Amino acid sequence: MTRKIGEFSLISGRWTTEQTQLALTIVAIFGGIALGFIIRTQEPSEKTVHLIGFPGEIFMNMLKMIILPLIMASLISGLSQLDAKQSGRMSAYAFAYYALTTSVAVLTGIALVLLIHPGDASAKIQQDRLAEQEQSVSAFDKFLDLIRNMFPDNIVQASFQQTQTDYQTTIISQADNSTKESLNVTEKKVDGMNVLGFIVFCIVFGIVIGQVGEKAKVLADFFTALDLVMTRIVVIVMWYSPVGIASLIAAKILGIANLADTARMLGVYMLTVIAGLTIHLFLTVPLIYFAVSRKNPYKFMKGLLQAALTALGTASSAATLPITFRVLELNNKVDPRITKFVLPVGATINMDGTALYEAVASVFIAQINGIELSFGQVATVSLTATLASIGAASIPSAGLVTMLIVLTAVGLPTSDISLIITVDWLLDRLRTCVNVLGDGFGCGCVHELCSKDLDLNRGSEIPTIIVNGELELECKQATTGSNKSIY
Ligand code: ASP
Repeated sequence: MTRKIGEFSLISGRWTTEQTQLALTIVAIFGGIALGFIIRTQEPSEKTVHLIGFPGEIFMNMLKMIILPLIMASLISGLSQLDAKQSGRMSAYAFAYYALTTSVAVLTGIALVLLIHPGDASAKIQQDRLAEQEQSVSAFDKFLDLIRNMFPDNIVQASFQQTQTDYQTTIISQADNSTKESLNVTEKKVDGMNVLGFIVFCIVFGIVIGQVGEKAKVLADFFTALDLVMTRIVVIVMWYSPVGIASLIAAKILGIANLADTARMLGVYMLTVIAGLTIHLFLTVPLIYFAVSRKNPYKFMKGLLQAALTALGTASSAATLPITFRVLELNNKVDPRITKFVLPVGATINMDGTALYEAVASVFIAQINGIELSFGQVATVSLTATLASIGAASIPSAGLVTMLIVLTAVGLPTSDISLIITVDWLLDRLRTCVNVLGDGFGCGCVHELCSKDLDLNRGSEIPTIIVNGELELECKQATTGSNKSIY
């Protein structure tokens, strides 16, 4: 028995699977917000808050569980179908898009924060902030970490640990009985999947399979089959997503300590970030897409709605990845060979929302400390914010962590991050949404730019069907826009 999905049935008047899932997700978002605010009035115990967030915790686990095999299978199966020239051109377009959108995002953020000037030195005094130890991180060391993580020494370990520069101060006693502090810089392994290392490994693996050809076909088939199975698992998980998203949002709202106070003190700062994200999402990126495709970018954006809502719920572009794949291929008819490469890479290194956010937040911290940044310092913020967004993991609040790089680079107090943590629950969700949609538009742009090269117009054979456990080939006719997928 097979079931067709992906086509709106105006004729039958029935809702398709995606429309039902989308409607449920929208209800979940509003339901989660309402539930959070209603239960908040009852002053729930910590245990109740924990229980409300439990289905969301399980949802995040489900998504995280899928990420690794999905990235592996999609990258390897996608790249093994292309020749070196095709994949080279596709990656060149993708990286050009990432570079362009990230730099414009940073510039938008800088322009807005300088113009609006949300940072008022008195706001800091009013804040009852945590006294945190100053942390210092070298931007150069972080850059080396980025490269180091691209080439993990152990691919199995890379699935759960990554390398990070470690700073340790040791006290050395001197001959004259005085002591001297010495800073030891070493590397250590920290918990967290090294997605970048995995991506580099899978890209090389996929391209080489394509080059070896017939003899490596078994490997190509294996990863194509794995990709199909993972896609099907995503469909199952998506049925649970409304419950998970509602739970995540309700629990987050219950967890915020002092809603009104933070809104009052950091309101203008939040509005600056939101204005920047809005400009980037609704103006800059659509303009770039339109320039490349001459198609309606808002229609394209509508197709990505389900992914945007999931990003709002999870605050993680990696966790949203499975959904983004699905909506791009199903709703927006982007060629799977493109999504399979551009999406995982984009979700890891292309974070426009995070870059914009880090630029605004750093200048804001300078402003509340009464520091006027010179042109050179603003340029440093722009550069390091770009680097920090590339280095940020696609997980909740990762942008706050990598902001240490930006703050240290311009000599701003890193402990002031504690000021903006209070509103990160909202800004993180919004910037993740921009990150996810930016990656989606990136796939759309590369699809347009590569259409001739990848022979999209003449139809290509792309396996996307499983029928009774067996693989079948789907002939995708891009000219007519028909893309039948049977799950
Ligand atoms: N949560 C963001 C993401 O997953 C990263 C960030 O914290 O900016 O895309």
